Amino acid sequence: MKNECPMCEKESLTEVDDAVLEVEGHFFVVKGKRCASCGEEFVSEKEGQKMIEIARRLGIWGEPLKLHRKLSQSARGTVLRIPTDIEKSMKLKGNDEVLISKIGRNKLLVEIGS
Ligand SMILES: [Zn+2]
Repeated sequence: MKNECPMCEKESLTEVDDAVLEVEGHFFVVKGKRCASCGEEFVSEKEGQKMIEIARRLGIWGEPLKLHRKLSQSARGTVLRIPTDIEKSMKLKGNDEVLISKIGRNKLLVEIGS
């Protein structure tokens, strides 16, 4: 097997077991190869598929609940209305505490506090 890096074309790929694969904002540590020269990491397609399977099982991949909502303005700031079906399926009471994290440039993660 060739160890040439597709990015910098140097023969400096080594096998590692701590390559980082990002799936929908979640990070997985997997087996792969890393280029000692440019630092680029490569994960085999097989390993990538395995991660997608795991991500599916965890419900973080291909999540069907992607709904479009418009933000609205209230006197106290920007309001995001939670769709009724999500409200029901998550048993929201309406005064729940939530944690909002910014993921990357255009994603927000809303976690319902316990
Ligand atoms: Zn390289």
